[in-house]
Amino acid sequence: MKTLLIQNIASLVSCDDEDRVYENVDLYAENGVIRAIGQNLDKAADETIDASHMLCYPGLINTHHHLYQQFSRNLPQVQNMELFDWLKTLYEIWKNLDENVIRLSSLTGMGELMKHGCTTCFDHHYVFPAGAGDLIGTQFEAASELGIRMHCSRGSMDLSVKDGGLPPDSVVQTVDEIMKDSARLIETYHDASFGSMRQVALAPCSPFSVSAELLRQSAILARQYHVRLHTHLCETKDEETYMLEREGMRPLAFMETLGWVGPDVWYAHGIHFNTEELKLLAETGTGVCHCPISNMKLASGIARIPEMLKLGVPVGLGVDGSASNDGSSLMEELRTAFLLHRLNSSREAPSGYDILKMATRGSARLLGRSDIGVLAPGKCCDLFLIDSRRLELVGACFDPKSVLATVGVRGAVDYTVVNGKITVKGGHLATIDEEKTALDAQRVCEGYLAR
Ligand SMILES: [Zn+2]
Repeated sequence: MKTLLIQNIASLVSCDDEDRVYENVDLYAENGVIRAIGQNLDKAADETIDASHMLCYPGLINTHHHLYQQFSRNLPQVQNMELFDWLKTLYEIWKNLDENVIRLSSLTGMGELMKHGCTTCFDHHYVFPAGAGDLIGTQFEAASELGIRMHCSRGSMDLSVKDGGLPPDSVVQTVDEIMKDSARLIETYHDASFGSMRQVALAPCSPFSVSAELLRQSAILARQYHVRLHTHLCETKDEETYMLEREGMRPLAFMETLGWVGPDVWYAHGIHFNTEELKLLAETGTGVCHCPISNMKLASGIARIPEMLKLGVPVGLGVDGSASNDGSSLMEELRTAFLLHRLNSSREAPSGYDILKMATRGSARLLGRSDIGVLAPGKCCDLFLIDSRRLELVGACFDPKSVLATVGVRGAVDYTVVNGKITVKGGHLATIDEEKTALDAQRVCEGYLAR
């Protein structure tokens, strides 16, 4: 049995149903599960952390990413573009992906997430060039090296330029190929048990790069295997225009005809839903992953988060792909979300603590998990610790529940713990050689961009 004891935690924000904040408590975990939270616990453990002066939070949960984009950030040629042109330009780079690019972009992207308090990552991978190897298997291996909880998706595209879609021919596949590989990946990797470190979702890329048949069959297969469904929806006005022209329907109405609403479905972005559509999401428990930095960078618009929260739409937080962020810190997303909605909605905006709960409990709900997102006995031991004595936080910690979103924390966290295991210590990755990984990744990135 592996045990962990975190002693004298100055403030522990649980994000539980009672919104409890504990002061000066210990937390004890066995085999990755929290067994006790309380004062002066009489426990011995394999590992002990002294958390006097530290703030403790449930691990952040990222519910939308494209890790492969780590190697196409800050490229001058796309900085002034909106989504459709941005995608068409970048596909010319992305079509050269291989296993090595996926391995190192996954290690660096998820490494950055973990250094900023993230303990679970969902990745939406949808570019599968012929002969590129086992890209999803490679992602799971990278996650296991790092020690992060990983939800991968079998993304897909079957409409290339010649069929009226955006991607080049070389990265699209047939519906049969996609369904066969989806079933293989679920059977090989999906673990639905308590405390699962690996899950698989099905995630066709977006309505403007896939056929109705691919969406329909993905929904049928996902329900056969009890896995979740995800895609981009209502990200831009261009998408709405495209769907009205092609299908004579707004994007959500189109998705609804194909079985794509329900508590096992969540959409990335969800900016351009009208009020009726928001009500449908709430009634059906269909979720939305909010990605404010990407939405601002690509000038896509502002998601109606205050209304979604009021209506009861399940909402989580995500960084989106590294090329439209241009980073992988969910911590930065917390403050950006807070400020964006303050600006746009004033008193109707979510509080700093509402935003933290969005990135923990809210995100856990999108992934269909009740074992993470909350710190309580019987839940997974996924958390992070921040030393409140750091210079940037002097005088700022009166309300630990909201400080991450209102004041923000820009440096790395002191500790990240996933499944009871220390994965970040002193602000550095404890599971891999961070410096060597960064050097290897830079070299591979330069080779890839030169292809
Ligand atoms: Zn995305």
